[in-house]
Parts: sequence; structure tokens; C-alpha cells
Amino acid sequence: MKNSFAVAIDGPAGSGKSSVARALSERFNFIHFDSGACYRAVAFYFLSKGIKDIQRIEQADLSSLIQLEYLKGSLYLNGKKLGEEIRTPDVSRFTSDISTKKTVRDFVTASIRDMIRGHNVIMEGRDIGSVVLPDADLKVYLTATPRERAKRRLKEWQENGEQIELKEVIKEIERRDQQDSNRSLAPLKPAENAILLDTTSLSFHEVVEEISSLILKKKGDSGYYKEG
Ligand code: C5P
Repeated sequence: MKNSFAVAIDGPAGSGKSSVARALSERFNFIHFDSGACYRAVAFYFLSKGIKDIQRIEQADLSSLIQLEYLKGSLYLNGKKLGEEIRTPDVSRFTSDISTKKTVRDFVTASIRDMIRGHNVIMEGRDIGSVVLPDADLKVYLTATPRERAKRRLKEWQENGEQIELKEVIKEIERRDQQDSNRSLAPLKPAENAILLDTTSLSFHEVVEEISSLILKKKGDSGYYKEG
């Protein structure tokens, strides 16, 4: 019998997945799992070794090179805790490039399932409802216009000291949307039974409240989770 509760939150870059997933995980005392961070970790691993040859990465035995662990809310790459170094524009771009590859997707999907087994989880990504957790109890797909998403990303990057212009961010976001949506493997699209939520003109608080009530509706008072 299933003894954990899973919420899949999918959507494109800047749709608000991360902040919303974090807030929900705190409210319900679930694990917040950022699947994009796992793809970023793989990209970061190869970039930091100076390897940019995607064919070489595709042919590598990833599980013998990379170990991903999730400990106390943080992701570790080969024993080292990851931080903002996986969120630079360069890593973002390379992540989108390598995540089109089956070897990479299979490795990340298997690692994620191992890391969260048995836990109540709010998981964010691109293919969580469709591939990683097809049996998720609730699937939500967040969207917003590219311009609105770029504005949110710009704010994050500026806070981290990156110098970049809005029009460049829009271009980058559209490039990633295009690549993530058109790849043949696990393309970015809502899972069949996902609930669509356009966050362009919603406040952060409104999005969190909306999804919270969906979770409560799904769970009733079955006692799977405790509220924080
Ligand atoms: O969510 P985030 O922007 O951190 O994801 C970085 C990249 O990782 C995405 O652009 C996408 O290419 C890839 N990704 C993916 N599948 C996921 C999560 C992220 O392909 N479930």
C-alpha cells in the first residue's frame, strides 16, 4: 500500500515552481525536491571537469562517476553540498543541452526515485507528473508569460550579482522553453491529469493558497501529513 503523498509541480523556467514548492513543503512538512537541481548537478560536474562534449557525456557510465544524495534539504554531488554554483547562466544553458539525452534522463530519474523513496514530497520539475512520479497524488502545471518569467529570473540573478539584461533573459528563457518543449524525451508539457495554473497575474500567496487547498482536498484528513 502507498504510504506517502506526492505532489508534482511542473512548469517552465520562472513559472514560480521553486518558491511555491518550498512554501508548500514548509506548510505541509513535506520534503521539497528540486529535480532541476539534479540535472544542473550533472551539467556542473562535467563543466567543472572541462567536458562540454555532449556525445561523450551521453556515452559515459554516469552512475560510476556521479553520486547524488539528498540530505537535510540539500543536494550533494559526490559528497559535496551544492549551492548557487549550479544556477549560473552557463550551467543553465548546458543543463538544458544535456537534459535532452536519454543517458542523463535515465540516470537522474533513477537517482531521484531513490532519494525520495518513502517520503512525502513536493517535487518540482519538467516531467515529474508525466515521467518521474506518474502516480503522484496531485499534479500541478504552472505557467506564466515568457516576459513575466524572465522578470522573475532577472531578479534572482541580480540578487546573486549576475549582470544581465531583461531582453537577454527573455531570449534565454525562450531558447530553453523551445528546447525543453521540443525534445523527443520527456518534453516539457502538462501531464494528462495535471491542473493548469497560469501565475502571470497571481501573487505568490495566491498560488500557494490555491495549491494548498488542492492538496487538502486530495488528502482530506487521512493523516498522511502533518501541517507545520
Ligand atoms: O528547473 P530548472 O530551471 O532548474 O531546470 C534546469 C534545466 O533542467 C531545465 O531547463 C531542463 O532542461 C532540465 N530539467 C529537465 N527535467 C526536469 C527538471 C529540469 O529536463 N524534471
